[in-house]
Amino acid sequence: MSWQPVIGLEIHIHLKTRTKMFCRCELAYGLDANTRTCPICLGHPGTLPVPNARAIEWTIKLGLALGCEIADRAIFHRKNYFYPDLPKGYQISQYDEPLCRHGRLLVPGPEVDAEVGIVRAHLEEDAAKNVHVGGAAGRIHGAGRTLVDFNRGGTPLVEIVTRPDLHSADEARRFLQLLRQTVVELGISDAEMEKGSLRFDVNVSVRPAGSDELRTRTELKNMNSFAFAARGIQREVDRQIGIYEAGGEVEQETLHFDPDHELAPPLRSKEEAQDYRYFPEPDLVPLAPPRQLVERLRKEIPEPPGARIRRFESQYGLRFYDAEVLNGSVALAELYERVVSAGVDAKAASNVLMNEFARTGVEPGAVDAVELAKVIEARARIPRDRFNEALAGSGDPGFDAERYLGDGLVVETSELEPLVERVLAANEKEVAAYRAGKRGLLGFFVGQVMRETGGNADARVVNELLRTKLDA
Ligand code: ADP
Ligand code: ZN
Ligand code: MG
Repeated sequence: MSWQPVIGLEIHIHLKTRTKMFCRCELAYGLDANTRTCPICLGHPGTLPVPNARAIEWTIKLGLALGCEIADRAIFHRKNYFYPDLPKGYQISQYDEPLCRHGRLLVPGPEVDAEVGIVRAHLEEDAAKNVHVGGAAGRIHGAGRTLVDFNRGGTPLVEIVTRPDLHSADEARRFLQLLRQTVVELGISDAEMEKGSLRFDVNVSVRPAGSDELRTRTELKNMNSFAFAARGIQREVDRQIGIYEAGGEVEQETLHFDPDHELAPPLRSKEEAQDYRYFPEPDLVPLAPPRQLVERLRKEIPEPPGARIRRFESQYGLRFYDAEVLNGSVALAELYERVVSAGVDAKAASNVLMNEFARTGVEPGAVDAVELAKVIEARARIPRDRFNEALAGSGDPGFDAERYLGDGLVVETSELEPLVERVLAANEKEVAAYRAGKRGLLGFFVGQVMRETGGNADARVVNELLRTKLDA
């Protein structure tokens, strides 16, 4: 019997607005603890939240990029729970009337594409950050005490929930990469896992291939990279299959993925049914995004990265993996398209950009595509290290391909000298005639030297060199 993995994701993304969600405190990452706080984000009694308009617009923008319907009316709710990182005792979030719902994201794959349903994308505020002291690597296990840094408290946070439409670890990884790229390209988040500005939980179950039932799922938390997530999912899928094949039942539980051991040991064996006692936030009116605003934001949405991969495959005849690599950043994708439109063969351009160019570490956004196109066109007829040098310099301001490819530099003066000597030695009769006054022979010598270099020398330099030798 074969099994199909079923995976759904819950992703949290920090918006990079200038200020927090409900107060005017500056967003701060890596600053001294508790230096960006005020009575509102510290939850003092009697304070009132004022929503950040930009965070609302950006959430709508993300919703549109994910093909969501934007609510005519959305409500902030209080989600009540007690924890030291939540001074108010509740988080302002969204519940049954979120800003965005019913979307989808296309995830192109090497064989099959996935169309991943987006259940919802809503806006909330992040909690503060608990800092565990005394344990290993800031982990709670073994820590002596816990400090709270309220700088993060109140950061605008978008939560995105997918349908369980992903069916392999690899597909989940590609979805996360595309989603990350989408928010980065929208300019609304830096979505960096190391900074905690992108976090996600993975829900995993398996079912007999061909069935559409949804079996009991487990939830993997604390993933710290896409690669770890893919490995964790694979492990969990194998574990569940093992249980079913042994005649057992999978239990619903939360598994804590430990990147050091690559295990998923249970954190709690039974999922506690949480009761957050959601109720409408009485200090905030419902959000009613005007249609003109939504339509204006819709016009600002760039081509989604998944669609771009698809287009690269068909428009340029690229393999999926090449199209995927070239779309790893919008800057690289744009550079590729501009190099091709400057006349370079699509396949040649993709080879150079993915290999030699990628190895230089040059920032694609800094490159003049027309100059780079000249370098790539010259690839076959210039020495390999000259080619690599040209690529390495291609991000420099005012980069001029001719400086590398132009006649003079292809064969340098120092390399020319022995060639000139050789040509003169091989043509003693003509040298004598020249010296006797047949000046017109200069052109003959120049021609000979140029032939030796395969046409890759600067004729003016050759001229000068020959004259100094002949007239000496
Ligand atoms: P809850 O209300 O308990 O949080 P949801 O229906 O909101 O559950 O689902 C939470 C996440 O779990 C979603 O990303 C969803 O796609 C995923 N999910 C739900 N059921 C399954 C399942 N049987 N297998 C895998 N993932 C699932
Ligand atoms: Zn504040
Ligand atoms: Mg849920």
